[in-house]
Amino acid sequence: MKKHNFSAGPCILPQEVLKKASEAVVNFNGLNLSLIEISHRSKDFIEVMETARSLVKELLELPAGYSVLFLQGGASLEFLMSAYNLMKVDGKAAYLDTGAWSSKAIKEAQALGEVTIMGSSKDKGFNYIPKNYTVPTDVDFVHVTSNNTIYGTQLKEFPKTDALLVCDMSSDIFSKKIDFTQFDLIYAGAQKNMGPAGTTLVIVKDEILGKTGRKIPAMLDYKVHIDKDSMFNTPPVFPVYVSMLTLQWVKKLGGLEAIEKLNEAKAAILYDEIDRNPLFKGYAAVEDRSLMNVTFNLTDDSKQAAFDKLWNDAGISGLKGHRSVGGYRASIYNAMPIESIQVLVDAMIKLEEQA
Ligand SMILES: *Cc1c(COP(=O)(O)O)cnc(C)c1O
Repeated sequence: MKKHNFSAGPCILPQEVLKKASEAVVNFNGLNLSLIEISHRSKDFIEVMETARSLVKELLELPAGYSVLFLQGGASLEFLMSAYNLMKVDGKAAYLDTGAWSSKAIKEAQALGEVTIMGSSKDKGFNYIPKNYTVPTDVDFVHVTSNNTIYGTQLKEFPKTDALLVCDMSSDIFSKKIDFTQFDLIYAGAQKNMGPAGTTLVIVKDEILGKTGRKIPAMLDYKVHIDKDSMFNTPPVFPVYVSMLTLQWVKKLGGLEAIEKLNEAKAAILYDEIDRNPLFKGYAAVEDRSLMNVTFNLTDDSKQAAFDKLWNDAGISGLKGHRSVGGYRASIYNAMPIESIQVLVDAMIKLEEQA
């Protein structure tokens, strides 16, 4: 039996996607060749890349003027690359510091210019999203992290700014419908909600590029990748293919509106139990709770062994909290079935009944 996979990343993908992907590794498109042994310049792979790129635009309802790229280096390289492409020489940027990933993004940008931290929740272990902060006006761009994978917090509103708005959406892209045109640059490592590790989705508004006065190395230059249709060098063919399959699955389910409803229903079941069951408490501030990563702790640590046995016996995997936070983290990305969440809730109820 397949385990109930609550891993934070790499994470659960739809079973039908895994099945199709495994078939393509052996025989792709009836070519009697593997997907991973054909030229990326072949007609069959170009079609994969173009389908994936256009599905991103379709699902996010992006107008003309945005380019979609499937790059490598993870979201971690985008911390640097985004700043490289948008920070002017002697420029400035403002960052919202909502956790370890934001902090890493800040560090990379600091190598290129002056960074203002416009708000931070570090004082409380990043368990909330800062509010009422002032967005500086004299900056080249403003950077936020939409979902804080480690702490289970999520931005419900994005800063209003005349500067460029950049967002790391690694762990909640394609999870709900928002106005994606408020962003000038979005990036997301595939392995949280879209595909396997090995590709990073980048969505960039064309008109913002080429304005820094900075010489950008070719591999770090979004414009170079755009001009080559995301094939400047050999793209990560397998992760792009699996991402395409996942996006087709999202479309088949009814797109972002439909997936958002499912995600809200799934998260509600789990948060309701955390709030109801006296043996558990949530980690993230209630108003900032994430639909994707549900973080919680036991109210009585002496019950840890008993709870760990209950969920292990129930076939649950990947529930341990991040090492910096402890406790538990249930990552309930798009592909997580509602049945698996019920299995976890049942284990929580059983723990209460044992007491
Ligand atoms: C996982 C994660 C990253 C890092 O992604 P890599 O692809 O491992 O570089 C960055 N930001 C967020 C929000 C993440 O969840």
